[in-house]
Amino acid sequence: MANENRAVDHNFKYDVAAQPGGEQIKFCFSCGTCTAGCPVTEVDPRYSPRRIIRQVLLGQRERVLSNPLLWFCETCYACSAYCPQNVKFGDVMRALREMAVAEGYFQPEFLQRVRNVDRLSHAIRLELIQAALETRDQSDMSLEGVAAAVAQKIKEWKV
Ligand code: SF4
Ligand code: SF4
Repeated sequence: MANENRAVDHNFKYDVAAQPGGEQIKFCFSCGTCTAGCPVTEVDPRYSPRRIIRQVLLGQRERVLSNPLLWFCETCYACSAYCPQNVKFGDVMRALREMAVAEGYFQPEFLQRVRNVDRLSHAIRLELIQAALETRDQSDMSLEGVAAAVAQKIKEWKV
């Protein structure tokens, strides 16, 4: 078993709180509201904002900063909107990513790649909404019907 993920760093939460955006993390009381409203958790339950915060508060520095799930957040800020403690987890996540790069768990180029993925995914969403608008008068508005229309739209894209 890997022992490195078991190491406890009691300064970790203070280091996160010292980062821009990380200041509020100490106010989390693990209610789970952020996880319940996270669209990423909805499609992949391995991703849990509440669990990540818990690991930070427990001092699991390497486990958190080396975790590929850090990059799953799509910075929609739904978690920040509903948090009763104003933790602003979306900002905490940005701080954690910066720390993960600064401490060598991920290359700086990877941060830029994720930013590019985010930009592209937003552009794709607009295209998909456009495809849905174009098919809104069709009788088949089931998920499968919309998916078929979207697939047709994707075929038409020039990349
Ligand atoms: S909603 Fe706020 S207080 Fe509740 S677990 Fe998430 S960050 Fe912590
Ligand atoms: S900002 Fe990230 S963690 Fe928060 S709800 Fe959106 S995807 Fe989930």
